[in-house]
Amino acid sequence: MNDRLPHSLLLAALKQHTVQLKDGREMRALGQGTWRMGEDQSKRDAEIEALRTGIDCGLHVIDTAEMYGEGESEKLVGEAIQDRREDVFLVSKVYPYNAYGDKLVKACDDTLGRLGTDYLDLYLLHWRGDVPLEETIEGMEKLKEAGKIRAWGVSNFDVDDMKELLALPNGKNCAVNQVLYHLGSRGIEYDLLPYMEEQGIPVMAYSPLAEGSDAKDKVFESKEINRLADMYSASVAQILLAWTVRSGNVIAIPKAGQAGHVEENAAAMLLDLEEEDFEVLDEVFPPPTEKEPLDVI
Ligand code: NAP
Repeated sequence: MNDRLPHSLLLAALKQHTVQLKDGREMRALGQGTWRMGEDQSKRDAEIEALRTGIDCGLHVIDTAEMYGEGESEKLVGEAIQDRREDVFLVSKVYPYNAYGDKLVKACDDTLGRLGTDYLDLYLLHWRGDVPLEETIEGMEKLKEAGKIRAWGVSNFDVDDMKELLALPNGKNCAVNQVLYHLGSRGIEYDLLPYMEEQGIPVMAYSPLAEGSDAKDKVFESKEINRLADMYSASVAQILLAWTVRSGNVIAIPKAGQAGHVEENAAAMLLDLEEEDFEVLDEVFPPPTEKEPLDVI
């Protein structure tokens, strides 16, 4: 698993791991995050190479946001995908304070301009702010009618927020909820994950490699996880990613600024973890037994 594998093999593996959207489209279960990309000129070439390598390997979902580097991440993605738009499932996010009326139209137009495209595959409300959800839904639906976005969704919504959203007119058109989820932070398994599955709405797991989490060292240094990784000739990162997408309703969007990391992440889809492996992981990082507040970054 740690040897360099042909991109065609990785692409074939990715095509076997998909998550179904309500509108019938599919997202592959592993994509690419871009937070903190595009901010450091000296890393630019490597980051573009990483994103393009990811597309070659089948990581077609690219997640960005107007917030990331205040547009710099979107510009970098735009450069990386300029001749590959049709190979990519492009996701961006709007600041909550821009998520209504003319402000939403302008934010979306600006995002499209930076990305060098005329449509997004998915547009997310980055987190819930003060704008009434009805107004965000109305604005998103208009963007859809105008052909600027194919679908819309939300991010950082817990169960109560989701219930409120889905009860509103057109609320059920919400395509995904993007939330923090990794082995060291399993709170959503108690209620949000089952609720999303019940509603037929996929979850996008952000920070799947535990970046920014107090649990990161514990996860990467765990004897049991390292033993499991050795057993599969895999890396801990690959175990984490294969674990994250195990249900079939979750896609993970690790950020990797190096092509080698991207290839390694794609190869995680070749791992076939067994029930007893999941039991080992449950022992080290137990699933929640009660409601936990939604973890956010
Ligand atoms: P992450 O994906 O958990 O971790 C990224 C870190 O892991 C980077 O330092 C990266 O290094 C490293 N890495 C990647 N592949 C690796 C590998 N195979 N082995 C070892 N290290 C590896 O963290 P994240 O960026 O916070 O989350 C992922 C994406 O989720 C973001 O980029 C963003 O698109 C999205 N996100 C959304 C929200 C939200 O509120 N909706 C919040 C946070 C994140 P290199 O870069 O050097 O390869």
